[in-house]
Amino acid sequence: MNTGEKTNLLDLGRRGLEDFFAGIGEKPYRAAQMLQWIHQFGLDDFDAMTNLSKELRARLKETAVIRPPAVTQDQLAADGTRKWLLQLDDGNAVETVFIPEEGRGTLCVSTQVGCALNCSFCATGRQGFNRNLTLAEIISQLWLARRALGAGPKGERAVTNVVLMGMGEPLLNFDNVVAAIEIMLDDLAYGLSRRRVTVSTAGVVPMMDRLRATCPVSLAVSLHATDDALRDELVPLNRKYPIRELLAACKRYVAGDARRRVTFEYVMLAGVNDDVAQARALVRLLEGIPAKVNLIPFNPFPHTSYRCSAPEAIDRFRDALMQAGLMTVTRKTRGDDIAAACGQLAGRVLERAPRARRPALQAGSP
Ligand code: SAH
Repeated sequence: MNTGEKTNLLDLGRRGLEDFFAGIGEKPYRAAQMLQWIHQFGLDDFDAMTNLSKELRARLKETAVIRPPAVTQDQLAADGTRKWLLQLDDGNAVETVFIPEEGRGTLCVSTQVGCALNCSFCATGRQGFNRNLTLAEIISQLWLARRALGAGPKGERAVTNVVLMGMGEPLLNFDNVVAAIEIMLDDLAYGLSRRRVTVSTAGVVPMMDRLRATCPVSLAVSLHATDDALRDELVPLNRKYPIRELLAACKRYVAGDARRRVTFEYVMLAGVNDDVAQARALVRLLEGIPAKVNLIPFNPFPHTSYRCSAPEAIDRFRDALMQAGLMTVTRKTRGDDIAAACGQLAGRVLERAPRARRPALQAGSP
C-alpha cells in the first residue's frame, strides 16, 4: 500500500522488505532489522531504530511510513474481552477481539470487510461483502493489540494465540492471509508456533489444500450441520463444496501428521441442528478424522430469527459426542455485552455490493 508517495512498511513481509531495501540501495539484512523493530518491538518511529544510520533513518522518513489503521473504538467487556474498531482508509471499519483466558490470550483477527458467504446465522454475512483486507490491515490488528495490551506482570506476552475467525472468510483472501501468517510465525516478528495460529473456514475446499501446501497452521472448519440439505441453508457455500468433499479435504489436511486434529465448529441453534440424533450423525460423519468439536452457543444479533439452544440441549448434545469418544468443548460466550462474541462482529461496511444495500443490520457498529 502506498500512502501518497510513501510505502507503508506494515504492508510488507520479509521478502517485500528485502525488495524495498534493495530498491533504495540497501543490503537485505536491513529487512530482518526492520521486521524486528516493527513487529517484535512494536515501533512506528524510525528515529528510535538505533542500529540504523542517521542517513538511512532520514531516507526512510522520506520514503516510508509505519501506519496501521486508526483505532476509533476500544471497548472492554465485563469478562475482560476487549474489542477494537479499526477505521480503514476508505471509510470501512473492521473489528478485532482479544479474549483473555487462564494461561493464554487469543486474538481474533478479521480478514475481509464484510463477507461474501452469507451464512444465515452470522451478523457479518448479513452485511454483504465489500473487499479483502490488505496485508497491512490484517497484520496491524496484531501489531495494535500487542501495543495496546503490553506485556504481563512477568513480561509474558498477552497474545499467545491468533485465530483468523473475525469478519470474513480467510481462505477467500488467501495471499494476504498467508503473508500475514508468515509474519506471525517469523521468529524475528511474533514468533508464534503453527499450532497457535488457527485459520477458520466455512469450507473452501481447494484453498484448504493450498493452505496445507504453503502454510500448514491449525485448521478449524465451520460445519454446523450433518446433512447437505440443512448445511446448504446455513452455509450456502455447501452447495459448491458439500459435506463429503469438505470432510475429505479435512482428512487430507491432517494426513501424515499424527499430532494434528481438525477443530469442527458447530453453532447451537434451537430446533435446527441441536437434536441428539444429529449429534449421533455427527459422530458417524467424523469417524476416521482426527477431530475435536467446539460447540458454539448461538449469539443473537438484531433481526435474526434463530435462537440459541437451551443449556440442557447443548449438554445433551455434548454428552452424546463425548460418550462416542469425540473430544468436545462447549465454547463460553465471551464479550457478548460489547457484541464481541462469535458472529456478532459487524464493523462498518460501506455500501458497494447490491447485498450491502439492505437495511443496516450491524450488531456492533456505532
Ligand atoms: N468465515 C470463517 C471465519 C469467520 S466465522 C468461518 O466460517 O469459519 C467464525 C466462527 O463463528 C464460525 O464458526 C462461524 O460459523 C461462527 N459464527 C458465525 N455467526 C455466529 C453466531 N451468530 N453465533 C455463534 N457463532 C457464530
